[in-house]
Amino acid sequence: MAKRKSQRKPIVRKLIEPFATEFDCPYCGRAKSCHVNLDRSCNTGRIECQKCFIWFQMTTTYLTAPIDVYMEWMDAFEESEGYLE
Ligand SMILES: [Zn+2]
Repeated sequence: MAKRKSQRKPIVRKLIEPFATEFDCPYCGRAKSCHVNLDRSCNTGRIECQKCFIWFQMTTTYLTAPIDVYMEWMDAFEESEGYLE
């Protein structure tokens, strides 16, 4: 399995409005295609790309903001990058 070092795009962490619920997708690269849904009753936060339908879900607290879900996803994405074909 070849490493895809050369294909890897750097993830730019730009300034994002703290209460934004739409974010850029790290997979398909579309701007603001990822929407965050926070389910306060189930303590879950879910982010899903409207274009490539990739999604991520995490446990949240009442302090969790949509941006936190996105950041958590970014971390998971960076970690998983090494295992992707
Ligand atoms: Zn996408």
